[in-house]
Amino acid sequence: MTARFDNRFIQELPGDAETGPRVREVLGAAWSSVMPTPVRAPQLLGYSREVAAALGLDAGDVADPDFAQVFAGNALWPGMQPWAANYGGHQFGHWAGQLGDGRAISLGELVGTDGARHELQLKGAGRTPYSRGADGRAVLRSSLREFICSEAMHHLGVPTTRALCLVGSGEAVVRDMFYDGHPKPEPGALVCRVAPSFIRFGTFELPASRGDTALLRQLADFTLSRDFPELTGHGAAREAEWFGQVCERTADMVAHWMRVGFVHGVMNTDNLSILGLTLDYGPYGWLEDYDPDWTPNTTDASGRRYRFGTQPQVAYWNLGRLAQALAPLFADASALQDGLDRFVQRYRRREREHTAAKLGLADSGDADLVLMEDLRTLMQQAEMDMTLAFRGLIELDAEAPTLQPLEAAFYDDAKRDAHSAALATWLQRYAARLREDPLPAAQRRERMRLANPRYVPRNWLAQETIDRVAQGDTAALANWLEVLRHPYDDQPGQEAYARHRPEWARVRAGCSM
Ligand code: AMP
Ligand code: MG
Ligand code: MG
Repeated sequence: MTARFDNRFIQELPGDAETGPRVREVLGAAWSSVMPTPVRAPQLLGYSREVAAALGLDAGDVADPDFAQVFAGNALWPGMQPWAANYGGHQFGHWAGQLGDGRAISLGELVGTDGARHELQLKGAGRTPYSRGADGRAVLRSSLREFICSEAMHHLGVPTTRALCLVGSGEAVVRDMFYDGHPKPEPGALVCRVAPSFIRFGTFELPASRGDTALLRQLADFTLSRDFPELTGHGAAREAEWFGQVCERTADMVAHWMRVGFVHGVMNTDNLSILGLTLDYGPYGWLEDYDPDWTPNTTDASGRRYRFGTQPQVAYWNLGRLAQALAPLFADASALQDGLDRFVQRYRRREREHTAAKLGLADSGDADLVLMEDLRTLMQQAEMDMTLAFRGLIELDAEAPTLQPLEAAFYDDAKRDAHSAALATWLQRYAARLREDPLPAAQRRERMRLANPRYVPRNWLAQETIDRVAQGDTAALANWLEVLRHPYDDQPGQEAYARHRPEWARVRAGCSM
């Protein structure tokens, strides 16, 4: 392999004096040097052709047996210098201290042919100084879920880290499956995730919590230089603009989550990216029947913090923690408050834009936000599939609206019947609104198609795919990924991937860690 690596993170930021995986508190350093722990029998289970192409890899490179060795952590390409990053975070609303990459190991920063930077990070690569009591490994279940969802999110137009490949380890990993409480060995697998930067809010919080302003300063300067090169200007104004942009990017990301029905599930500050990329696909989930109170995170006992409907508020809260961490660098704290205000404004604007697009309106006013809110309430009451309901609305005839286009979205006939009159009334309101909108029907439908996906990586489909891949059927993953590459197209013959959750998958357990 002749890829060019330029490992700026470890070249420009201070590292840990000790190397290797001994668990320790790491002071005054942004990273620790640590090698991946080799696995028994690497096997390539899937890969993303777009990510491979962006890295300058062709089908031959991927098919080379060396590829699976490298992305299992058994070998390195020239220029790779593995490290684990040090960071802290607020988890479940409380400061958790040093966390760090406990099972992720970065291999290097690859510079693509177009000059773009791609950090390659193995997840499940074995123990690091940040593994605490855990094994540093990941099961096929969680790695496949991260692989498929990060690629699906990209194709949905949601800012996200990417995934190059999924490699089976040929080893068993023991995890608690939450629903029965009995540890059970499962196949292990590693995902190689890819992003211009994996710097998190918690990267800044850790030195700030320790009063290490020198490291905090270095981290901010480094992030500005490597990850925000477009920010010109100087000193305080540049830093204020940086924080404002982080707030806006976070708002954009969460607004997209709300548009497509994604629930992150662990919105802790160690899982929020400084670039506003969806990061760390743990117990995430997709809304099937619309329910703003749903969370895939079974450890969020109160169920309040990581619900679908609270994501904008939690994002804002997390930005507040980042602001607090950065405060020592800001002589004027009002610049940080201005940044937080930019989150609120930006989120409102995006919410309006997505409302207009999802409903097929040229523009959305206050009354349209109410129209949308009323639809959401009805979808919840009548137990309707979010994805199928919005997709069905595209077919509505504004001259003669009926419930027919929504038929596929219902889970329960009794609930449909109980709310069909209210839904019919809503459809009349919506049809009247469409008739006064300037967009012609064909344009309206096209606009709606591009805002309302047909294919999302539904939880039950992930479970089926995991079972098949575990039995050796890797084509099941390749086929699904192929469908998810075009989530807004109607794909004849692929209806099975658009179907709502069958009855067997009704158990709402998270299943991912
Ligand atoms: P998460 O909830 O996935 O963001 O993880 C929180 C922290 O726990 C991070 O520091 C992870 O690196 C660490 N962690 C999670 N799972 C493991 C594991 N299997 N081995 C080591 N560390 C882990
Ligand atoms: Mg994490
Ligand atoms: Mg995780």
